[in-house]
Amino acid sequence: MSMRIRMWGVRGSIAAPLTSAQLRDKARQLLTQARAEDLASPEAIEALIDRSEHAWTYGGNTSCLEVSFADQVFVLDAGTGLRALGGKLMADGRGKGHGLHVFFTHFHWDHICGFPFFAPIYIPGREVSVWSGRSDAAELLATQMGGAHFPVKWNSLPSRITCRQLPEDAATAVGGAQVRILPLIHPDKAYGYRIDHGGRAMCYLSDTEVSKTPHRVAETYADFVRGADVVVVDAMYGFLDYHDHINFGHSTIFNFIDFFKDADIGELVIFHHDPMAGDAAVTRLLTDAQRYKQLIAPEARWTLSAAREGQTWDLAAR
Ligand SMILES: [Zn+2]
Ligand SMILES: [Zn+2]
Repeated sequence: MSMRIRMWGVRGSIAAPLTSAQLRDKARQLLTQARAEDLASPEAIEALIDRSEHAWTYGGNTSCLEVSFADQVFVLDAGTGLRALGGKLMADGRGKGHGLHVFFTHFHWDHICGFPFFAPIYIPGREVSVWSGRSDAAELLATQMGGAHFPVKWNSLPSRITCRQLPEDAATAVGGAQVRILPLIHPDKAYGYRIDHGGRAMCYLSDTEVSKTPHRVAETYADFVRGADVVVVDAMYGFLDYHDHINFGHSTIFNFIDFFKDADIGELVIFHHDPMAGDAAVTRLLTDAQRYKQLIAPEARWTLSAAREGQTWDLAAR
């Protein structure tokens, strides 16, 4: 039995789909890079697409992660990425049959606006558990679908949705996993998550502004992620860019590299990409972060990546 983590939305604040100009740019670079033999057969073209850095995108959907194991599907945040995850669950049968738990870090639009488009909530009698660090999740989600905001109202949903509050000071058993939350530094309150199952663990720490008071939180965060295989963090801004956005509630990856320098983790993942940052800018941020890590933490055993839609980890139980 293994834990699978999959990214469905990695963008911060607002969805940022690829523009025609950006697509054109990618097409131009891909074709410029192609040699005659790369275009000689469908297989050769496929191989070129596979290896080219111009044939993919980090993706424009807002925050949504899937964590699945056994007969359970955990969803972390319900940004616009949730729509496609719902489609996948309906197509492979898990939409009906599996345990379904949706965890919210907080209730800013970019983390909730996919919820009304999540197909399983329209299945009559389908049980859906909603979890968060707050006691008023039902009210907040109902508001999003209420008034003139959405044609289907919360109270007329045919599924059976139960909202529960997670305690801050203890782990909660959910569907065979242990779930812990950590208060983050963000307007209107947000909580980070740690999910442990089958000897594996993943952490999700978005949205949070650690850069403002790094000395106060470094230890708490390092404790929270200890031993985790995958640690996804709000690293919306570049180093200088962060200083133009103090008090926006978001961080820069460089602080997290400082925090986790000596941490026993598997992979640190840059997440909640700035909607203003195109693919090249996110790649540049990743390259800078890798260089910084090499300079200040050459001994660190963990790897670094920038989240992209479709990115998947299969962690075998141990
Ligand atoms: Zn956000
Ligand atoms: Zn937020």
